Amino acid sequence: MTLKRRAFLGAGAAATAVALGSLRQRPANAQFGFGRRSVVNLYSSRHYDTDDQLYEGFRAATGIRVNVVEAEADQLIERIKSEGQNSPADLLMTVDAGRLWRAEQEDLFQPVSSAVLSAAIPENLRHPDGLWFGLTQRARVLMYNKATVDPADLSTYEDLVDPKWRGRILTRSSTNIYSQSLVGSMIAAHGEADTEAWARGLVANFARDPQGGDTDQIKAVAAGLGDVAISNTYYLARLIKSDKAEDQAVAEAIGVFFPNQDDRGTHVNISGAGVLKTAPNAAAAVRFLEYLSSPEAQRIFAESNNEYPVVEGVAIDSVVAGFGEFKADTLNASVFGRNNPEALRITDRAGWN
Ligand code: FE
Repeated sequence: MTLKRRAFLGAGAAATAVALGSLRQRPANAQFGFGRRSVVNLYSSRHYDTDDQLYEGFRAATGIRVNVVEAEADQLIERIKSEGQNSPADLLMTVDAGRLWRAEQEDLFQPVSSAVLSAAIPENLRHPDGLWFGLTQRARVLMYNKATVDPADLSTYEDLVDPKWRGRILTRSSTNIYSQSLVGSMIAAHGEADTEAWARGLVANFARDPQGGDTDQIKAVAAGLGDVAISNTYYLARLIKSDKAEDQAVAEAIGVFFPNQDDRGTHVNISGAGVLKTAPNAAAAVRFLEYLSSPEAQRIFAESNNEYPVVEGVAIDSVVAGFGEFKADTLNASVFGRNNPEALRITDRAGWN
C-alpha cells in the first residue's frame, strides 16, 4: 500500500449491515439494542487524552457509551482470561500485531464479518477471519544522523549487516515486540536460516548493547553514539512537536529513510482491536470498530499518536506527512504474530539482547 491520498470509498459509521460469526449465548445481563443505556466495554492499552473525543463522538452518533479499562496489553489479556465467561469486556485494543496474536492464541477473539470494516480497512491490516482489525499503522524506519550519513548509502534492512555499518547501528532490545515483529517480517521474506544470519550481522554492527526505547535510539544517533537507528516514525514526530528545545535539537539532527522501497516495502505494524468471544455487547462493539474506521475518527485516532490512518484518503498529520510518502510492506500483520516464537529463538541465538 502506498500512503497517498485517493478518494475515500465510503465506509460509514452509521452502516448497520453487520453479521457476527459464531456468537456465543450472551450472559443474562447482556444489553441489546443501541438505546441510550447501551454500552461497549473496551479494554485498551492505549491512553491518549484525545481518545475521549472518540468515545464522545461515538456516543453522539449512536447513543452507545464506551467504558474504558486501561492497562498494559499482557495484563489485560490475563484479566480477560481470569474473568472467563463473566468478563464484561467487549473489545481488546492493543498497539502491536504481535500482542493481538497473543490474544488470538489464547482464543479470546470471535470472528467478525462487517462489510463496513472490510471496505474501509485494507486486507493486510486485518485478521483473515476478522478476529482483529488494524486501526492505525506505524512504519519501522531508519533514522540517520544527517551530519554523518549520506542517505544514498541506505537502502534496506538487509543492508544494515554490511561491514560499512560496523559499530554504527542502534536498536532496542529483542525483548521488545517491535523488534520481534520486524524479525517476524524478515522470516516471511527470507526464511529462518537467512534471517538468523541477518540477525547475527546486525548484532555485529550494533553501536552498543540494546538499551532503552525508540526515543533513546534517536537521541543516541543525535548524540553521535551511533549513526543509524531503527525506530517507529511516531517517536520522531513527538520530538519534532515537543516544546522542549533539546528535543527539537535532537529532531533537527535526524533524517528519516524508508527502507526496502525497491522491493517489498517498509515494515509497518498496526495498533488494532478485536471483539472478545465472551463479549456481552458484541454488536455494539462491532459498531464501535466501524465508527473507528470512519474518516473523522481515523483522523483523530491516528493523530493522537502521530500514526498513519489505515483508511486511505484520510488526511495524515502534517508533521508525519513531512516524512514523505512510502511503499509499505503488505505482508499480513497476522504473520508477524505467527512468526513470533521463531523470531524470539533467532534473536536469542544471534545474541540480540
Ligand atoms: Fe511505541
